[in-house]
Amino acid sequence: MENTSIYIHIPFCKHRCAYCDFNTYASQEDSIPAYVNALINEIEFVGRQLANLPTFDVPTVFFGGGTPSLLSAPQFDSVLKALRSAFTFTADAEISIEANPGTISPKKLNAIRKSGINRISFGVQSANTEELLMLERIHDFFTVIEAVSTARKAGFDNLNLDLIYGLPQQKLSTWQTTLQRIVDLHPEHISAYALTLEHGTPFGRWASKGLLPLPDPDLAAEMYEYTEEFLESNGYVHYEISNWGMDDGRQTIDRTPSAVHSQPSHACKHNLQYWRSLPYLAFGAGAHGYANGYRYSNALRIKTYIERITNYDLRFTNYNFPLTPATVNSHKQTPADDISDYMINNLRLTNAGVTESDFRLRFGRALLDVYPKEIEELIRNGLLEKISGGVRLTKRGRLLGNQVFMRFV
Ligand code: SF4
Repeated sequence: MENTSIYIHIPFCKHRCAYCDFNTYASQEDSIPAYVNALINEIEFVGRQLANLPTFDVPTVFFGGGTPSLLSAPQFDSVLKALRSAFTFTADAEISIEANPGTISPKKLNAIRKSGINRISFGVQSANTEELLMLERIHDFFTVIEAVSTARKAGFDNLNLDLIYGLPQQKLSTWQTTLQRIVDLHPEHISAYALTLEHGTPFGRWASKGLLPLPDPDLAAEMYEYTEEFLESNGYVHYEISNWGMDDGRQTIDRTPSAVHSQPSHACKHNLQYWRSLPYLAFGAGAHGYANGYRYSNALRIKTYIERITNYDLRFTNYNFPLTPATVNSHKQTPADDISDYMINNLRLTNAGVTESDFRLRFGRALLDVYPKEIEELIRNGLLEKISGGVRLTKRGRLLGNQVFMRFV
């Protein structure tokens, strides 16, 4: 079986930020021990399903959230032990956690580094105090500086800092200052996403009542273009619409079936697995996975997830790999679904794009036979461009990605 990554969802936060629509819950930390037990049971359950199936290696594990850094070091250790006994990791497996800079300590970071976690993604969002307050983040920028220094001392040499731009009333100058301060911290990787006002969040509600000045889309586009230029001039390679990896002159081979691309050596290997439409298992409340031809997701709420895993006698329960009693949605992908997902995911890779050889290897058909009209039109409209052996988004296409992706749905 193809190498398969693992995503583990940790749906706990100290406080729910005003813009966030992730599957996460505040003030439920009392449930963490029972949740970790349920995770271990779910991992062991899927491990047992593999007994009669071809084996695969695990190139990446990602603890996302929520705020994974709310787990203690021994809790990470026990989940990783369960993973290692159920699956085989590659020798250079990338094991990442997302962390809120306000929830770490030197002791915890030292311990989790020793347990094998080798990459941290800090949710920073902004270096501006008023913006951090508006977003209801629990940390200020000094805490971020301290967190980065603590992570370095603990031996982490692969750090990502996550940012958000296009905030209500944000000025280009404050965004420029944020970028400068972030680059001064020398992270190996930077992610910058435009704010989206999600239905059901406080930001969404305030905006619909006219209480929150809507982010100006033209200004957000200007911020994005500035980000591209600024980060590239500071030694970061723009390899995905919203992601940049530090250019240290080395390249890493992208894990495509045909291995035809290379990426900056600090590209996030876990996310490359998604963008390459390669399989990943999902564990935890609300986690989404893609493996054995299924796209599937688990029960959203913590209590329901724990109950579904705990109330079954998992030793005697039969589900097709990788579905479990926690799965509430599953869909067997058709070849057309796979092709469509492949286009939408791979076109996010700004340098590599979609290559004809990789497409043919995966689907046994020529790219231009499947999408002759769509590709011709998008090239004519300046949203896609031809590159040697394939196509990728143009600069304008990166700004209007959704318009491009719609054509492949
Ligand atoms: S810390 Fe992250 S996951 Fe938690 S509420 Fe804030 S944005 Fe959402």
